[in-house]
Amino acid sequence: MFTPGTFGTPNTASSTRVLLLGSGELGKELTIELQRYGCEVIACDRYEGAPAMQVAHRSHVFPMLDGMALRRIVALERPDLIVPEIEAIATEVLVELEQQGQRVVPTARAARLTMNREGIRRLAAEELKLPVSPYRFVGSEAEALAAGHELGFPFVLKPLMSSSGHGQSVVRSIEALPAAWRYSQEGARAGGGRCIVEGFVRFDFEITVLTVSASNGIQCCPPIGHIQIDGDYRESWQPCAMTEAVWLKAQDIAKTVVGALGGWGIFGVECFVRGEDVIFSEVSPRPHDTGLVTLGSQPWSEFALHARAILGLPVPSIRLQRPSFSVALLGEGNGVPRFSGVDRALAIPETQVRLFGKPECRGHRRLAVVVSSGDDVEQARTRAREAAQAVRIVLD
Ligand code: AMP
Repeated sequence: MFTPGTFGTPNTASSTRVLLLGSGELGKELTIELQRYGCEVIACDRYEGAPAMQVAHRSHVFPMLDGMALRRIVALERPDLIVPEIEAIATEVLVELEQQGQRVVPTARAARLTMNREGIRRLAAEELKLPVSPYRFVGSEAEALAAGHELGFPFVLKPLMSSSGHGQSVVRSIEALPAAWRYSQEGARAGGGRCIVEGFVRFDFEITVLTVSASNGIQCCPPIGHIQIDGDYRESWQPCAMTEAVWLKAQDIAKTVVGALGGWGIFGVECFVRGEDVIFSEVSPRPHDTGLVTLGSQPWSEFALHARAILGLPVPSIRLQRPSFSVALLGEGNGVPRFSGVDRALAIPETQVRLFGKPECRGHRRLAVVVSSGDDVEQARTRAREAAQAVRIVLD
């Protein structure tokens, strides 16, 4: 039984075992942080050689949506903590396991609610009364059309279960709907079918409010601005400039939703800002890709904060160390990535490069990130973009 503040030794009977579900680049950084406390980390993903597997004690390959396989691995490894790193998990199994006494980060309910856009949308809008875009849930193209007429064009069509923009489109006209509907059915992660239709928000900018819930309370990191292309993050920066009134509203929304989800850990709360209004978009109960910028901006990155929080340790008072900017580096095409120019990138002051070690690229894939700091966000951006330009990716 895991007791906060006590740790064992990896690979012995006393070890503090963490089962990581999903082993991408965020999981890799988290694994490194957990190992600083001597945790034994077991990384899982659906393919071999995933980034976190390369730094974990051992790994298992199975689809995270396979409930039987998940149960089998939990029975085999008997982890102290199950830590989801992705959305698409057989969360009903997590709920069952939690009822039997298994600890799940932040809670099985939070993982279940946030995996499905309907669960989190109903909680945020209907229970917590947070401001959100107008929405309808639809099960067919005809229902999507009716919802479009009600909410107006353009609207955003998203599968209930998808991430990184998969299956998501902005529908600008009736003629564009059939293709958008087909895409939603292909891009949906589990089962296809139901979608959410959201009114298109003409936001001035969008932010992530990283919010940590730990044994010593809930705190927000300074706001992170970001740019998404095709629903996928390309650049993020911290702090994101805004009025004090807007920042107070954003923190209020973030703390409300995090408090309602419960449990310990870091949460990425995504909001749109339009004028003085803050509109809740979605939340992920784990480190957030736009939060990679905290590797440069904060004395404690989102990964270090998550590790501390989930282990039941208090987190320090969060502050910005240096304004910072991150640029995601994408591979385009098929093959095994090779990088050059990292030396030129690192000649730029206050710059870090993280190569994720992904074994292959198919289509568009995030393979690395550049994070630069500076006296202000402008200087950090100039440095990060220059560094990103310097790194060349070849696919063999
Ligand atoms: P999501 O997968 O819901 O985080 O959406 C990915 C990105 O699509 C967001 O970060 C926004 O840039 C854009 N987006 C999503 N929903 C809306 C909306 N209702 N109105 C305008 N843009 C949106």
